[in-house]
Amino acid sequence: MDNCLFCKIIAGEIPSTKVYEDEYVYAFRDINPQAPVHILVVPKQHICCTRKIDETNSVYVAKCFEAIAKIAKAEGLDNGYRVINNCGEDGGQTVMHLHFHLLGGVSLGEKMI
Ligand code: AMP
Ligand code: ZN
Repeated sequence: MDNCLFCKIIAGEIPSTKVYEDEYVYAFRDINPQAPVHILVVPKQHICCTRKIDETNSVYVAKCFEAIAKIAKAEGLDNGYRVINNCGEDGGQTVMHLHFHLLGGVSLGEKMI
């Protein structure tokens, strides 16, 4: 997708700190971390947001969550972690390429984020 920041990161056109990659998923450290571990887990197919998940592309979502389990283990998040998705304007999404925030390395408590 032209002009999509995360598509450019996946393509290597914009640098990122990669932590995981497979056929379906690219994961890298958030540039503005909100926790000691803050990783963005992104499908390699351009899907703008959760509103556009359907039976043709949901394998990418499943693969993102398989990756999250692997990354969390590799990052030592044995005590737990949080996965967040922001969708659309009201959801606070700023990059319109579906992504899941993996946050951990600290007790996040029971607040929203
Ligand atoms: P969201 O607000 O859910 O759309 O999340 C977008 C996230 O992308 C934010 O947490 C940003 O800090 C992060 N971000 C923006 N640009 C970059 C970048 N070049 N490399 C890594 N993370 C980025
Ligand atoms: Zn994209």
